[in-house]
Amino acid sequence: MFDLVVVGAGPAGSMAAKTSAEKGLNVLLVEKRQEIGTPVRCAEGISKESLRRFVEIDKKWIASEVIGAKIYAPDGTEVVMAEEIAGNEVGFVLERKIFDRHLARLAAKAGAEVFVKTTALGFERTHNGLKVKLRRLGEEWEVETKLLIGADGVESKIGRMAGIIKTLKMSEIESCAQYLMTGLDIDENYTYFYLGNELAPGGYAWIFPKGDRSANVGIGVLPSIAKMPAKCYLDRFIEKLGIKGKIVEFVAGAVPVYGEIETAVTDNIMLCGDAAYHSDPITGGGIANALSAGYHAGLVASEAVAKNDFSVRFLRRYDELWKADFGGKLRRNKKLQEFFLKLDDPTLNSLARSIAGKKIEEMSVQAIVVELLRSNPSLIELFKDLLS
Ligand SMILES: Cc1cc2nc3c(=O)[nH]c(=O)nc-3n(C[C@H](O)[C@H](O)[C@H](O)COP(=O)(O)OP(=O)(O)OC[C@H]3O[C@@H](n4cnc5c(N)ncnc54)[C@H](O)[C@@H]3O)c2cc1C
Repeated sequence: MFDLVVVGAGPAGSMAAKTSAEKGLNVLLVEKRQEIGTPVRCAEGISKESLRRFVEIDKKWIASEVIGAKIYAPDGTEVVMAEEIAGNEVGFVLERKIFDRHLARLAAKAGAEVFVKTTALGFERTHNGLKVKLRRLGEEWEVETKLLIGADGVESKIGRMAGIIKTLKMSEIESCAQYLMTGLDIDENYTYFYLGNELAPGGYAWIFPKGDRSANVGIGVLPSIAKMPAKCYLDRFIEKLGIKGKIVEFVAGAVPVYGEIETAVTDNIMLCGDAAYHSDPITGGGIANALSAGYHAGLVASEAVAKNDFSVRFLRRYDELWKADFGGKLRRNKKLQEFFLKLDDPTLNSLARSIAGKKIEEMSVQAIVVELLRSNPSLIELFKDLLS
């Protein structure tokens, strides 16, 4: 009998397990992979501030540190942004193989049981909580728990079984492909983003340096408008840019770009991270919000146990916390994503040209928007939609 079972040892699950175990809960964290953190389905970028909020920085899992982002319009116009204003994915490039394991270790150190190579198959309700069915090495058994946290990623089985989320449409998910490449000739002080409807329909390509001339080189596209699989766009991007280097790893994965869900809870159950579609609809970045959601869910779990109240009414406190933290940003960036989808390549070029070379790190967001609209008055109608 546990107070809390957490499914998935990604950043969201390990942070939830750590936070609740620190508050004295009897926690089980289960992870279906045999090694936490591998394979890495991530470009591993995160802002320094987002990371420092939740963990003490340890150089062991920092692959590199950048000072800003370089964004390229379809015609090659470059916009340089300082790290502080470049968003949640720019600052550090992690070594997630080590980072995710470190977080799970912190959860274990706080007192959580951690079972790897253990898949949660489902759950059923009992008179005083839940029974969670688990499978390890062909053996199946059940554990009882008062609370369940689904931190089981974008394809969350827990979320769908609980009826909290529905399967995403092709326009609500980014399909991604990424190589880890080595022997590259790049300035490792920046992360690089490449835009264009031909290049990456509904998404963008990226190069995130990992030190020692290696980098994550990847692409995300919106399957509802893409004409071929993400990997084909990635190969075309590498060829177009003339990127020379050796491919040492390949991963494919998906990122929810849904926006804000109405609720991430039901009786006895909370969802966090990608399972609750918490990733950013513009960038697809989800580590920062996963950490934050895991933290809030862990806190509310401990309050629920203290009050012996696992009702949806009580757990809505978790909704309040994550929504106050980053819900507004999810809503705003969903609108921004829809706005960007309406822009053709010449407009993207014109937007980039109107701020290229300006010291945008010294400008407020409002000043940037005014500058963009001054140079591109035809966008005012679209902006009105965005602000409505
Ligand atoms: C190609 C790519 C690049 C990305 N780049 C970035 C980036 O640069 N920056 C950024 O912030 N975000 C990035 N993201 C998104 C980021 O990886 C996710 O948002 C983040 O990992 C979400 O964390 P999580 O803990 O919610 O889920 P996950 O990290 O997906 O963890 C879920 C865990 O649950 C486990 N699991 C699933 N089902 C079960 C089950 N039934 N039983 C037991 N365990 C289960 C999985 O094995 C997994 O370990 C990228 C994503 C992709 C695909």
